[in-house]
Amino acid sequence: MTYRDLNTPLRTIMTPGPVEVDPRVLRAMSTPILGQFDPAFTAIMNEVMEMLRAVFQTKNKWAFPIDGTSRSGIEALLCSVIEPGDKVLIPIFGRFGYLLTEICERYGAEVHTLECKWGTVFEQSVIIDEIKRVSPKITALVHGETSTGCMQPLDQIGPACRELDCLFIVDAVATTGGAPVKVDEWCIDGVIAGTQKCLSVPSGMAPITFNERVEKVINDRKKVERGISTVEDRLKEQQLNHTFIKSNYFDLSMLQDYWGPRRLNHHTEATSMLYALREGLRIVLEEGLEERFNRHSYHELALIAGIEAMGLELYGNRDCKLPMVTCVTVPTGVDPESVRSMLLHEFGVEIASSFGPLHGKIWRIGSMGYSCRKENILFVLSALEAVLIRHRANVNTGRALQAALDVYQENL
Ligand SMILES: *Cc1c(COP(=O)(O)O)cnc(C)c1O
Repeated sequence: MTYRDLNTPLRTIMTPGPVEVDPRVLRAMSTPILGQFDPAFTAIMNEVMEMLRAVFQTKNKWAFPIDGTSRSGIEALLCSVIEPGDKVLIPIFGRFGYLLTEICERYGAEVHTLECKWGTVFEQSVIIDEIKRVSPKITALVHGETSTGCMQPLDQIGPACRELDCLFIVDAVATTGGAPVKVDEWCIDGVIAGTQKCLSVPSGMAPITFNERVEKVINDRKKVERGISTVEDRLKEQQLNHTFIKSNYFDLSMLQDYWGPRRLNHHTEATSMLYALREGLRIVLEEGLEERFNRHSYHELALIAGIEAMGLELYGNRDCKLPMVTCVTVPTGVDPESVRSMLLHEFGVEIASSFGPLHGKIWRIGSMGYSCRKENILFVLSALEAVLIRHRANVNTGRALQAALDVYQENL
């Protein structure tokens, strides 16, 4: 049996991930393999840690990727701090809030949830009052909820958690690299980023950072794998009065020893993905964080102007709109999947649907990282207009591109 050469179509990817990747990142991925303890490789590991601190705007000692998609980072942080019976508070405003509950429950936490209407976010005081009422060990929260296109403000919740002696863990998978995630200033104890979103690296890694408050909890549960531990390691383990972390793969106490000076073997680091992440982070820092955040907001403006000029309605509260995801209400009488399929097959443009109660109700247009470019915004608007006309939707023809171009010309 013979298979033809891999020949993937070229797409314009306007979804909330995975998104297009800068050719520089793809080139970095074809760099030769190095052994995991080769000084040439451990130097790359250290550089990635340094660049991650800059992107997370933190002085934390620990910032490294977990090998696995973004949810692996979420699971690693949560399972390393949760002991069975621990109280965790999870305010939910979309699908990914439920993912947090799912993971916490599996590790035996006593989960308390708080919900608000999808398409909105919480008043920070509401969450803070609930922290006071429940006194959880951990509050876990999504920053950018890609399922609803909303962004939760965090700046007051972090300081309140610190004051109330609660750990604050944040899923910033969608926002990191596209909007400010001020880890130290907002007093976030543990944060997870995603590679295939605004960092514009393929999926397969989850950069995380955590501070000494999290480290203290982890070190109280520290374990070294039997086959590589020393007598001292085992003696220390006997003196701990906390349970070991339930996962081997996601045990941050062991991962610290792999990413730290001890270089104790854990898994084999994902060589080519680390090259990709390094190049992706280098591109982010070359562009500059502020410039990159401004670029995401700038193209968002043009996209919104185009969508509204077409006569379509945005979904969700504008005051808390996630800059890199624009949700559009599907016009009545239009088959949402037929539109998406025509966009893909006639134009090579991909946009997303949503999950659960929003499935079939909205489209989600992502403008993340390398995909967040003028030509992509103009192309998705023109393609959407053409496809909607083909679906006999009631749109204002010829207006969308002009409105977007107006935004671009006004803000040169
Ligand atoms: C994409 C996303 C995830 C899950 O990411 P995977 O890489 O698919 O595991 C989690 N949280 C948020 C907010 C996301 O946008």
